[in-house]
Amino acid sequence: MGKTGEKKNSSAKKHGVLELSREQIADRLRREMAKAGPTVVKFIKMMESFRGEIPDEGKRVSAALKAMEHAADLDKDDILASAEQQRATLTKQQKLFAHALDEKRDEMGSSAKWSKELKARIEDMNAELKHLKEDYDRAVTEATDGESMIKKAEQRMAEAAKMLDDEVVAFKDKLNHKNLEAAPSAPSDEKLETLVSSLDFDVAEVQKSDDASGEQKPCPQCGGDLAWYELYEKWGCYSCGYQEE
Ligand SMILES: [Zn+2]
Repeated sequence: MGKTGEKKNSSAKKHGVLELSREQIADRLRREMAKAGPTVVKFIKMMESFRGEIPDEGKRVSAALKAMEHAADLDKDDILASAEQQRATLTKQQKLFAHALDEKRDEMGSSAKWSKELKARIEDMNAELKHLKEDYDRAVTEATDGESMIKKAEQRMAEAAKMLDDEVVAFKDKLNHKNLEAAPSAPSDEKLETLVSSLDFDVAEVQKSDDASGEQKPCPQCGGDLAWYELYEKWGCYSCGYQEE
């Protein structure tokens, strides 16, 4: 991630010498050449100072040569050697410039590579974003469906419980009816005896199953009694909420 900042800085950097105009380049090269060949510079100055008195260039050159020899003990060969120094400097400056161009090419090359890497990362993140959005949509759907299922189950349970409670209340009302004992159609004791024995009705068995309906198992969590939950069709504990898997 830090690499992004680095690259930003280097791309914001000025291109420097690569952006100079032809005239600016020439000015700077002239200054370099003046440093490399001061004898040439002096000679040319001298020639220029003679311009008013000696209009012919050929004559001006030989006058300046004589003046250089007289004033500074420098002959034509010295001045030509100085000019060669200037040319050598020009060649050296061109090499330096070519090196700067090569560096710029390398920099451009790494920018191109870096831009490819960034593009690949953007594509990866777009793909990741697409997956996230799909996951999000799925989660929203699941949450909505789940909530709807829970509400429906809650309602069905409430309806079933109400229906059964109504049945029990109706049954109790039937038993508590004031006129029950005065009902004219009660059978005789002998008749009842016959009816019960024909049903194979075990009073002891009924009492037992009311106390503790069916088989007993201890709760592994609290040690209390497990009960068979018909609704869940598994063993469970009313005390601690444990349910057998
Ligand atoms: Zn328990």
